[in-house]
Amino acid sequence: MSEIPGSGPGRADIDAAVRAEIDRLRAEVCALHALLPSNGLVAWTSGNVSARVPGADLMVIKPSGLDYEELTPESMVLCDLDGNVVEGAYKPSSDTGSHAYVYRHRPEVGGVVHTHSTYATAWSARGEAIPCVITAMADEFGGEIPVGPFALIGDEAIGKGIIETLDGHRSPAVLMRNHGVFTIGKNARAAVKAAVMTEDVARTVHLARAYGEPIPIPRADIDALHHRYTHVYGQQPPADGVNEQ
Ligand SMILES: [Zn+2]
Repeated sequence: MSEIPGSGPGRADIDAAVRAEIDRLRAEVCALHALLPSNGLVAWTSGNVSARVPGADLMVIKPSGLDYEELTPESMVLCDLDGNVVEGAYKPSSDTGSHAYVYRHRPEVGGVVHTHSTYATAWSARGEAIPCVITAMADEFGGEIPVGPFALIGDEAIGKGIIETLDGHRSPAVLMRNHGVFTIGKNARAAVKAAVMTEDVARTVHLARAYGEPIPIPRADIDALHHRYTHVYGQQPPADGVNEQ
């Protein structure tokens, strides 16, 4: 790290209500990062979580290159939706541009997660979508988990690939080819849940395939399961097209 805490931009001129949201999200996004290593989704410093700041064109995201144990609410970086740092002592995650692209193009999305979790990334390395062959997948993803294009980090190619692939699917997760997983949710916690579930079903379907041919679930049954899960199951009202449970 070339950055030193305190060397970044100073506190921006931000409305008090938005400031309170930012402070809440710094703590929430920091805490959610602990769920990535505890669920076995990341190695070393890879993986990141971000949250959109409601009522502002801003997002809170992980700093680049810090160990998970070092993360604090204060070390989270506040960026605009073009990926520019607004407040933060550290450089933001190298995936910030991809998160920002998703927020710009999907206004209902409040959280984005990226991991290289093992089984899901193995599917991405084959360029193969995970077929919907277990009811938990029908519930959570409403069908297959699709594969997006191969894209190099650094311009808008990853963000564009995520959006274009998700547009044709109900899944809140996409496997970017030869890379890893991006998930979306109505908030950062929902996106983390989708990342955990993605790895879980990637592993199960991998094992099923290793020992035989998984049996497809008919489309009508996938639709019924997904509808029940997103409209009836759980304690919360349904979101607008974004998985939330
Ligand atoms: Zn990555």
